[in-house]
Amino acid sequence: MITEDARALLSTGAVCDSCLGRPFAERSFGLTNAERGRALRTTVALADDEDFEPTDPADCWVCEGYCGTFDAISDAIVDALEGTEFATYQVGTRVPPLVEENERLFREDAGLDPDVGESIKREVNREVGRRVGATTETEVDFDRPDVLAIVDLEGFDPLEALESGTVTGHAVDVQVNPAFVYGRYRKLERDIPQTEWPCRECGGSGVQLSDDGEEPCDYCGGSGYMYDTSVEQVVRPHVVDAMNGDEGTFHGAGREDVDARMLEGGRPFVLEVKRPRRRDPDPGELEREINDAADGKVEVEGLRLATHEMVERVKEHDASKRYRTDVEFAEPVDEGAFDAALDELEGTTVEQYTPERVDHRRAGLTRERTVYGIEGDLRSPTEAEVRLHGEGGLYVKELISSDNGRTEPSLAGLLETDAEVTALDVTGVEGEDEPFELEAFFRDEPRTESNDDVAETTG
Ligand SMILES: [Zn+2]
Ligand SMILES: [Zn+2]
Repeated sequence: MITEDARALLSTGAVCDSCLGRPFAERSFGLTNAERGRALRTTVALADDEDFEPTDPADCWVCEGYCGTFDAISDAIVDALEGTEFATYQVGTRVPPLVEENERLFREDAGLDPDVGESIKREVNREVGRRVGATTETEVDFDRPDVLAIVDLEGFDPLEALESGTVTGHAVDVQVNPAFVYGRYRKLERDIPQTEWPCRECGGSGVQLSDDGEEPCDYCGGSGYMYDTSVEQVVRPHVVDAMNGDEGTFHGAGREDVDARMLEGGRPFVLEVKRPRRRDPDPGELEREINDAADGKVEVEGLRLATHEMVERVKEHDASKRYRTDVEFAEPVDEGAFDAALDELEGTTVEQYTPERVDHRRAGLTRERTVYGIEGDLRSPTEAEVRLHGEGGLYVKELISSDNGRTEPSLAGLLETDAEVTALDVTGVEGEDEPFELEAFFRDEPRTESNDDVAETTG
């Protein structure tokens, strides 16, 4: 009987309402454990016709006072989150082993299952979480919260906290999860790497040692970088600023060569911002800001607020690529042979042994990739433009040159002359089975042209 169990629990010593209610947490949804405990204490007092004696958490031998500190812990968390915008939270608690032991003894002494009901850990998580949510008007999220507060009960003295109504800040550790912005970039000039590329001579320091001490690095001119800028350096500072974060990481859906342009539809990317204090910047405004500052070298479009799953999406989603290339032949090629070679390559599956230029450390292997479509124009007997659509991972320069026979078939092989790509543009990066941009990966509503127009005319 529930009254007998409660009587047995009360006979173990002074226990607070929360601790008394917790073994019965599975009963009567909608009550707090303190309400359950208070009701049971009342019931036992009436049944036994004893004087009603409430127990203050400060006198409770089970929780040692912690059950009276939920408000104070919540206040400490809310203080620690001051200045950080978030919509969802989660609270986790580390409980002192001694208190966990008390919980077991409490039930055992009363002849109950040592694990019956709820643990104090869950109660603290829920009760503190409820208070944090109510104060900050945010929702709990057990899966991927914007912020996570870890409470270390050993980090403060419960009796002091009951006295003062406050908990020291170091008992609470607040973690802010990263925020993500998705978009597509175009690289309108050559010799811009996708991510920042420290100088290989000075390791990014920009200085070298001389007899007179340090001087600017000869190789990079003191910038510390191999190239003046990168897509990452164009995009990152604006997004990190807009989210008021600590730092940012650029994730691209693959990358083109440094000397290739990225045109037309652009390439998907995600900018991950660490410790953001703002999570909802206006993507349209951010886009305009980046493009204004990039001054025509790089452009971004389609910026949207994304979920963390978007990082894996851009990195792992299978994508086909479109290219435009300028090709030079060692010997004159006639129109008929050129067209016949392209016909031969159209729809074919190519075998490509790992090109030498790719990675000398990587073990060589032969991969098969399909040329979905290919067409071109012979501009002179030794020059052509070739446009193609290929499966992700197709080595295009090698499809043209044959890479000394490592790619088979190839344009050079079919024409029986050396052929070289002198300029390469990527003109499309599209998901093979479905687009990168599924709504499930976004946190905001799709932007419409008319929204943008309104923002531009009023902004
Ligand atoms: Zn207690
Ligand atoms: Zn250098």
